[in-house]
Amino acid sequence: MTGFVLFGSILVVLLVTIIWAAIRSGEDTGASLDAAERRDAAIEALRDLELEYRTGKLREEEYRSTRARLERTAIGARDAAAQGRAEDPAPAPGKAPAPPRSCPECATALTGDEAFCPACGIGLPPRA
Ligand SMILES: [Zn+2]
Repeated sequence: MTGFVLFGSILVVLLVTIIWAAIRSGEDTGASLDAAERRDAAIEALRDLELEYRTGKLREEEYRSTRARLERTAIGARDAAAQGRAEDPAPAPGKAPAPPRSCPECATALTGDEAFCPACGIGLPPRA
């Protein structure tokens, strides 16, 4: 019984991990996200380094050189992430907003893809 429950929990954890990884990989298509990830990874590594140094696992010089390298990585990635975000707002090609439509019969402004004019009820041609 316990073994079965354990197997079930492992399966659930495995599934969640796979789904999470799939969602993450779908999100991480932009260069800004890659840079942000590199920055986070460098910051994480800095924390680990700090901990190892404090617990006496690292020599002073090793700590200093690694720390300097990680800080450069973090700063570089941070700048790249900021740049990536600044470039993002450009609209994707082919996604220009559709021109406003109006009823050919009564010239009522239409808000969407109405099939019939809300004012006069005439059948409307489909949006091009
Ligand atoms: Zn109309």
